[in-house]
Amino acid sequence: MPPTKPVDSESICPCGSNQSLASCCLNYVKGKSPAPTAEALMRSRYTAHALLEIDYLWETWSPEERVRSSKADIEAWARNCEWLGLKITGTKAGGKKDNHGLVSFVALYRQDGELQEHQEVSVFTKTPQGVWLYVDHKK
Ligand SMILES: [Zn+2]
Repeated sequence: MPPTKPVDSESICPCGSNQSLASCCLNYVKGKSPAPTAEALMRSRYTAHALLEIDYLWETWSPEERVRSSKADIEAWARNCEWLGLKITGTKAGGKKDNHGLVSFVALYRQDGELQEHQEVSVFTKTPQGVWLYVDHKK
């Protein structure tokens, strides 16, 4: 199996923005430019699950938190799910001038034939270099 899914950059972005991949998450996922806001990073990480861009998921996850999982685990999960849609339900900070942010979302996916709805408030932080990273979900 190829490591990532082939993409048509003109197709609609999986993140639900109603824009093409090329004008939405693709540049972030492919590492061409960093996501400018926490919400943009959240969207691009969802898209990375759908496109099986596991390296991107790993690189945009806070290094201190990565100890809880492995690339192989992330990949197995992403492959095992059919990604059906993302809805951003709220944001707190996470803008271009912020160093921290919260993004609430609902992700729909199918796993083992069962429709699943995952709700989360994700915590994001920005490095001194200006790169947004996913930290964890809010407990
Ligand atoms: Zn997108």
